[in-house]
Amino acid sequence: MTARAIITIFLISLAGAGFASPYDDAMRSVRTLSDSRCVRLLKFGRSHSDRSIPAFVISDFTVDSRDKSRILICAGQHGDEFDPVKSVLFLCKNLAAGKDPGLLKRCAIVVVPMVNPDGIAASRRENAVDVDTNRDWVDLTTCETRFVHKIIKVWKPNLLIDVHNWNEPSPTPGNALEVPACDTIARENVVLAAARRARDSSEMSLIECTPISDKRLFHRRYCALGYAAYLLETRNGEDYQARDRIYRTAIKSLVNSVSSRNGARYIMSPASMSFKSASVGPYLDPIPKATSNSTSLLAAVMLGIAFIITAFLSKPLPKRETVAWSHRFTRCAVDPEIGSGRIAYRHTPHPITARSWVNRRLRSRYVVHEPEPEETEDDEISVLMPEAVNSLSR
Ligand SMILES: [Zn+2]
Repeated sequence: MTARAIITIFLISLAGAGFASPYDDAMRSVRTLSDSRCVRLLKFGRSHSDRSIPAFVISDFTVDSRDKSRILICAGQHGDEFDPVKSVLFLCKNLAAGKDPGLLKRCAIVVVPMVNPDGIAASRRENAVDVDTNRDWVDLTTCETRFVHKIIKVWKPNLLIDVHNWNEPSPTPGNALEVPACDTIARENVVLAAARRARDSSEMSLIECTPISDKRLFHRRYCALGYAAYLLETRNGEDYQARDRIYRTAIKSLVNSVSSRNGARYIMSPASMSFKSASVGPYLDPIPKATSNSTSLLAAVMLGIAFIITAFLSKPLPKRETVAWSHRFTRCAVDPEIGSGRIAYRHTPHPITARSWVNRRLRSRYVVHEPEPEETEDDEISVLMPEAVNSLSR
């Protein structure tokens, strides 16, 4: 191997060290979101190549969630369409930061931001076994589609939104909101009215599917199963900022249509009427309000004192690394792949305990004299005079 080849490999490995794949980026965003009081992680799915399929609920859990509108937003079915993933996660970040508190009071939004993580990691349309997940919603042959289907079966959302972008010239208007054909006129009218409001606010085109459209697509399949389901597309070459604005305005408009018209949501999505809140109870339970009576205050003080004493008397902990996932919600699933990676760890500093403090004081008071190492024959042999070296090398 020449010196130039070695330098090239070294430079490539240096560049690689700072590179994070879109999959890692998305997982990092989900992990950051998991720290919010408005976010509860669902048990993650696993992709064909054993990557995590993240899923979480975002809502205001201080208010009773049982009568909220349930929304499901998914993105990243096609691995070469990363802008929808990024935009949906950005929308969640804004919601978690309190940008639209009214919406989170009215809705529990289930988000699957990356349906096809293997495709996202490889930046290719299909999943790891070459299946286009958005042609698999009738047969459910992939673990990715089965995972989302299971969520829909349990949560029975009032509204489903699937977010995509074109990577090639589109045969239809590129920035479009697609509405599947509904089984009854009454339902179609309400579904279309919500779509028209979203179109007007986001300046997208409206595409109405015909009964002969391919029924294997997500929004068409779930519309046929009785849910209100929409597809958002943006045109090829549209920059991220424009796409992000279009997705967010359309999503907010659709969510507002469903959540502010209580009767309409059941006409739009009759399948969601059979929802049983007990099936997802822990995810919707309100955060218990802190009691401020003197007993609980005293208990908290006693607990704090006990904790300080225990921490002070305990042995110094060995230096260890902890996973940086939020532990606020104990049912959260930890991604072992990301969890063991470099980015997921942070160092826990050594606590100063009784023992470490005493040791430090003793060390500063007494100078310990290490015994001088004895000279051995080896030491003498290792010191060779130049003449001896020359004689050995001959
Ligand atoms: Zn797509």
